[in-house]
Amino acid sequence: MSDCIFCKIAAGQIGSFKVYEDDHVLAFLDIGPIRDGHTLLIPKHHCSRLEDCPPQALEPLMARLAQLAGAVQRAMEADGYNILCNSGRAAGQIVEHLHFHIIPRKTGDGVFKHWPSFQYPEGRALQVAEKIRQKLKK
Ligand code: 5GP
Ligand code: ZN
Repeated sequence: MSDCIFCKIAAGQIGSFKVYEDDHVLAFLDIGPIRDGHTLLIPKHHCSRLEDCPPQALEPLMARLAQLAGAVQRAMEADGYNILCNSGRAAGQIVEHLHFHIIPRKTGDGVFKHWPSFQYPEGRALQVAEKIRQKLKK
C-alpha cells in the first residue's frame, strides 16, 4: 500500500534499525520504545489485521515471532517479554499494517503487569463462549 508507513519501511523507503529480514517478514526497533529492545515484527505483505492475513503470510510470521521473542529476551538480558498485537483503533492500533510488538521485561520494571479483570456472573461465560463458537462457523 503506497501510503502505509510499514510498507515503506519494508520497501526501504523509510529507514529503520533492522533486526531481521527475509523474503516474508521484517523486524525492526520501535521508534518509540517502551523499553530498550522493543521490537516490531511485520509481514512484508500488507494486511491490516491478523484475520486479514493469508495463511501463507502468517506461517513464516509466527515461526519468526517465536524465535525473535527469545532472541530479544536474551539480548536484553530480560526476565520475560510481552507480545502485543493491537488490532483496531479501540485496541490501540495506530499503524494499520499488521505488527507484533515484542517488549522485553525485567522483574519489577514497573511497565505494566495486570489489566483490570472481573468475574463472569452466573451463566454469562456459557453465553459468551457459545457466541464465539457460532462466529467460528462463518
Ligand atoms: P500500534 O499502536 O499501531 O500497535 O503501534 C505502532 C508502533 O509503531 C508504535 O509503537 C510506534 O512507536 C511505532 N512506529 C510508528 N511509526 C514508526 C516508524 O516510522 N518507525 C518505527 N521504527 N516505528 C514506528
Ligand atoms: Zn502496509
